[in-house]
Amino acid sequence: MAIPKSAKFKYEIIQDYKVPNGKAGRFAAGKPTWVVVHSSGNPNASLESEIAYMARNQDSAFTHAWAGHNKIIEIANTDYPAWGAGRTANKYAVQIEVTEDKRLTKAQKLQAIDREAFWVAVQCAYYGIPLDKVYSHADISRMYPQDTDHTDPIAFFKSVGVSWSSFKEQVKKYYDVLVAGGDTTKITSLDGQKATVMTSKTSTNTNTGIVKKYAEKGVFYPNETIIARDAPTTKANIVARYRKGENLTYHTVHVGNGYVWLEYLRNNGKSGFIPIREYKNGKYGKAWGTIK
Ligand SMILES: [Zn+2]
Repeated sequence: MAIPKSAKFKYEIIQDYKVPNGKAGRFAAGKPTWVVVHSSGNPNASLESEIAYMARNQDSAFTHAWAGHNKIIEIANTDYPAWGAGRTANKYAVQIEVTEDKRLTKAQKLQAIDREAFWVAVQCAYYGIPLDKVYSHADISRMYPQDTDHTDPIAFFKSVGVSWSSFKEQVKKYYDVLVAGGDTTKITSLDGQKATVMTSKTSTNTNTGIVKKYAEKGVFYPNETIIARDAPTTKANIVARYRKGENLTYHTVHVGNGYVWLEYLRNNGKSGFIPIREYKNGKYGKAWGTIK
């Protein structure tokens, strides 16, 4: 909403939703107005096993996103609440966990925390959340002791030399550049490296039905109104409508689920998928626009 299209994302935010929309109800304001920052509290679990555990146990608790040393993954749609910080905060906050996996080096832990800071900045910029509404789980426990008593992520951050205030400064660095439409790859990460951008892994949406997928860059100009979604299937959530006279720059082509889909980067850092022609039984339909 508030991130200009010119903004360059240092890290990709992968969407691999494991939680149905609306599982934890609706936000009090219809959209998130706070952010809550967590750490996993479990040094013995990998990012992947944490996510698998959370997906299995989503009836008791889940957060929207996870940060690891080489990826940021959203497992729940941020337009809907999560269950991670008690009943009051949950009505307001988008929430992220960072892995505390002890097998990571100190530098890797800092890279994970840096990704967490980046995700927080993207949420603030995208939803218009003020930076003073970024809370640690520890903050929430102080504010609402009847709801929750966790003190993360303070001790974990401290273990690698990151104070809560320095974390928030890092969030602000990313935020300021994002809202100005600048290049966040130029910001030094918490591990002291400039661009620790990892090879971009495109969407992990493993929806079956995609028979072919390949990288291709171009600009698509629709000649009628077309609905874009958050996965290459008409069963996915609607994220935008593109009309005649508009255009979008895409980076990957997916073929399947009845259509040819173009994958593009939305202004919230997530992928959008727009169908541009039918594809049935190996035959292509007429394109609903032009590619340049
Ligand atoms: Zn927590």
